[in-house]
Amino acid sequence: MLVKRAFNTIVHVLLSFFIWLPRRSISISLLQLHFALFAGCLLNFFKKNAFFPQKLANLQAKTKKGRRLIETFEKIINTSDFQARSTVLLKRALLAFYQRKLLSIPLLATELGVSIPTAGRLAAILTSNHFVRLIGEGPSGGGRKPRIYQIDEQNWFTLAVDAGREHLRIALFNLNDQKKAESISTLPLESSMQYLEATVSHIKRFLVRHHLKPAQVLGIGFAVPGLINTQTGRSLVHFTGFLRPVNDMLADMTGIPVVMDNDARLMAKGEASFGKAQHAQNAIYLFLDRGVGAGLLINGEIYKGTHGFAGEFGHTHFLGNKNNICYCGQTDCLETYTNLRALEEEALRMGFTASATGDVWVNIIEASWRGDRVAMDAIAEIGRRLGLALVNLVHLIDPEIIIIGGSLAMAGNVLTHSIYNTLRENAMHAFREDLRLELSGMGQDACLAGCHAMVMKNFFANV
Ligand SMILES: [Zn+2]
Repeated sequence: MLVKRAFNTIVHVLLSFFIWLPRRSISISLLQLHFALFAGCLLNFFKKNAFFPQKLANLQAKTKKGRRLIETFEKIINTSDFQARSTVLLKRALLAFYQRKLLSIPLLATELGVSIPTAGRLAAILTSNHFVRLIGEGPSGGGRKPRIYQIDEQNWFTLAVDAGREHLRIALFNLNDQKKAESISTLPLESSMQYLEATVSHIKRFLVRHHLKPAQVLGIGFAVPGLINTQTGRSLVHFTGFLRPVNDMLADMTGIPVVMDNDARLMAKGEASFGKAQHAQNAIYLFLDRGVGAGLLINGEIYKGTHGFAGEFGHTHFLGNKNNICYCGQTDCLETYTNLRALEEEALRMGFTASATGDVWVNIIEASWRGDRVAMDAIAEIGRRLGLALVNLVHLIDPEIIIIGGSLAMAGNVLTHSIYNTLRENAMHAFREDLRLELSGMGQDACLAGCHAMVMKNFFANV
């Protein structure tokens, strides 16, 4: 190929020269045309003969261990169109490894629609940057044995940071989607600069404890309760006094890219990526705690709505009782009938005697485990209310599964039976005949796993 292209280039140059030679009075514009043709041939010759790929490989080889590949990606993007195409290809190759975890070079070539040598070169670049590693050779299909690579789980990570109302949870995930470490600290959520500084300090200490540099973290997934506008990165409930979006401020303070979303939606994302909604296209994740929220999986994607506010199931109106005042400023919100406080009020109204220690709702749930009739009836009443509200949502969304999470999920079968019976009595048969209603198997990990999934999705955006 090399000889052929060189020959073609020389022939074209000679032809251009001989065409020009007999016409001594050639115009300037014709001369310019010949020059352009000549330059085009030369450029074509260099482009197609591994000159630029070699430069790319050299650039990658110089990349020191621990240096961020993203920076290298950006460097390459800025140099030429040809290399920009290679950069996208490199990320697509990494995405293929991330999704499959294990791939041979021929399979990678098929997946990306490239030649086997190109796939081998991409795998080599990813190996030198510790994204994948060679694990051996597969059986030969007649020719050379194919080299097999898998995701390298030792060098690159994501951080999940869950800013709960009382606690800050930080978790480390590798590129095999495994949670490798976690820490929980008491840090009540506040909309202050001191809170952000304390969060950053916890993140930095966490990284030091696990011998990691910020450059090894592909991104931080930041979970915050309440309304969040995912387009502007602004929370409408917390950090409202800041001039800049809180995720940008966190990114500047940590040196790591930060993506932020509402906690209930991230729990739904965790369940959809790794939990019970993993193979579902349409699902409802119901978060039942001090607040009530929902994450809606529609056609395989978490639904965000026009402003990124979708899923505020707790603030839908319920019975028309104008005396039920919600913290959001409205009255009659479903949350005021079905959150932990509502459970406490209902149980006490029914005559439940709380013990002197601990939260009343914890007393009620523990009593229900022992078969306490009043506790079980109070939980069933909350379930009945949730079931009535869910009838509307089920008819709107037509889900395959409803997953119950949050502290109220600890009430277990007493709660789910009551919700299910109410749905059975009030929803159309066709909507509920194969509808599953299950307790979350991930617990609080759903939110952390959702943060990790969000960071990875963001990392592979536009690939
Ligand atoms: Zn409300």
